[in-house]
Amino acid sequence: MMRMRQQCQEMLVGKNIWDSSVNLGYLFTLKEGNMSVTVTKEFTFDCAHMLSNHEGLCANVHGHTYKLQVGLVAINTNQEEGHPEEGMLIDFKELKKLVKQNIVDEYDHAFIHWTGGSSQEIAVANVIKEQDMRIVEVPFRTTCENMAKDFFQKLSVLFWGAGVELCYIRLWETPTSFTEVYA
Ligand SMILES: [Zn+2]
Repeated sequence: MMRMRQQCQEMLVGKNIWDSSVNLGYLFTLKEGNMSVTVTKEFTFDCAHMLSNHEGLCANVHGHTYKLQVGLVAINTNQEEGHPEEGMLIDFKELKKLVKQNIVDEYDHAFIHWTGGSSQEIAVANVIKEQDMRIVEVPFRTTCENMAKDFFQKLSVLFWGAGVELCYIRLWETPTSFTEVYA
């Protein structure tokens, strides 16, 4: 793999891939034959939660600014000359729209509630619902790992037939703690 990458880089030395004299489609074909091409978009959103049965501070209601990275890998790069998405895996604007609609808009500024959680968690959730505040109910304990797996499952189906597939997601719960889920 390293040798192939080196060969590819050697072929590109001194060439400006944006120069019209170079066939951009050919370069993408080379890359797809020898390596994976991915694109990633990053999102942030704020949530409250609690970890039922936790033995430390996380048993209390508290909040995080979550950071989410969504990475896609190419199945077919759009090669059609003159196509609006020529040379793209996906338009970043489209990726942003899909993740925002399916994750960020639902979770931002909500209390994430594990419906199977402790009586304390259920009491907190009931108050939030009575007060008509934002809540997302999930069937799992709201750890970073479980949330990341759930996001991966939700997002992976969105790209079927789009020439790309979900490659990985990374979810940060704090600036120094994150989970990765890979296909
Ligand atoms: Zn937490």
